[in-house]
Amino acid sequence: MSEENCLFCKIIAGKIPGDFVHQDESCVVLRDINPQAPMHVLVIPRAHLESLDEASQKEESLLGHLLRVGARVANDQGHAEEGYRTVINTGAGAGQSVFHLHVHVLAGRGMHWPPG
Ligand code: AMP
Ligand code: ZN
Repeated sequence: MSEENCLFCKIIAGKIPGDFVHQDESCVVLRDINPQAPMHVLVIPRAHLESLDEASQKEESLLGHLLRVGARVANDQGHAEEGYRTVINTGAGAGQSVFHLHVHVLAGRGMHWPPG
């Protein structure tokens, strides 16, 4: 999917509304529109990358930043003690439906393993 047709690029550009909980120079965090847990946010890089599979060495620090921001948001929302789950779906077969890299962070209910 090209950047012009990308849902998350449109939300980041302000063309479609999003419920943002954090923004910085390299990423945004918004509440998932169809939450699967009491807290379900998406950490999304501002740069359009289709998936984790497209990330290269030059994105290594960005990938680390996304994980750390997700952890900070989970802490800020009071979920550090009970724990939280961080998920990246890569490819349609793994459940990816929006082809702009994003990290799900879920918390506030019991989590099962293995995930479905
Ligand atoms: P994935 O299936 O891993 O690609 O995750 C995409 C996520 O984006 C899903 O959990 C959707 O519920 C979520 N989503 C889709 N549209 C929106 C939107 N407009 N605002 C916030 N989250 C969205
Ligand atoms: Zn995009």
